Amino acid sequence: MGLVVLGSMHLRRFANIAKAFSLAVALIALSVQAAGQSYRSTNPALVSRAEQVTGDRFTVVRTTPLGVTVFARMTPRIDLLNAIDRGFAELFTVARRRGYRTRLRFEDYRVFIGRADRTRDSGGQYSPDIAVPAQQYAGSDYDQGGFIYAAGMVLPFNPCAFIIAEHDRDLGRVSNVVRYEGEHLILYYNDRTLYERTADHSRGGGHPILQ
Ligand SMILES: [Zn+2]
Repeated sequence: MGLVVLGSMHLRRFANIAKAFSLAVALIALSVQAAGQSYRSTNPALVSRAEQVTGDRFTVVRTTPLGVTVFARMTPRIDLLNAIDRGFAELFTVARRRGYRTRLRFEDYRVFIGRADRTRDSGGQYSPDIAVPAQQYAGSDYDQGGFIYAAGMVLPFNPCAFIIAEHDRDLGRVSNVVRYEGEHLILYYNDRTLYERTADHSRGGGHPILQ
């Protein structure tokens, strides 16, 4: 009899611990969600612009180990986040060597990872790209009939942000795309003349711009 009582007390205590634990988990989940939502609500124009360009819904917000804010459709793999950091690290090194001072912190950047509109280029190579309106590229070699395929696309400049496509391999390409899109933003803030000369690839020129 005594054992039964003891047993049920024990069980009740366990139930309370379990309840407290699941409450803690719920609170953590809630605060993560709240952070995502508050970011979204303080940058509604940026997120809607990215969603408008890609046709995606960016419901996941993450920070890379070095501090870049990443928006995605689903939770990005850690090696993808590391590849993003490597791209920026390389970019900042080159930029510092040239004496640039502005926007050289990982926290200055937001990267949107959108659904790829194609995963292979015309040569059959793995090349996840996004389709964007042709605009100044209309009629150029890039023009696919009103749109072009791009590895990345820079969004309005404050905050610094760009879109890349989801990759499941060749993460070295992710680092390169990050470095290359980042070049436009670094130049915009540090060398406006060179920025103007290199921003529009329909007039020729590619990446890397900074060596
Ligand atoms: Zn470019």
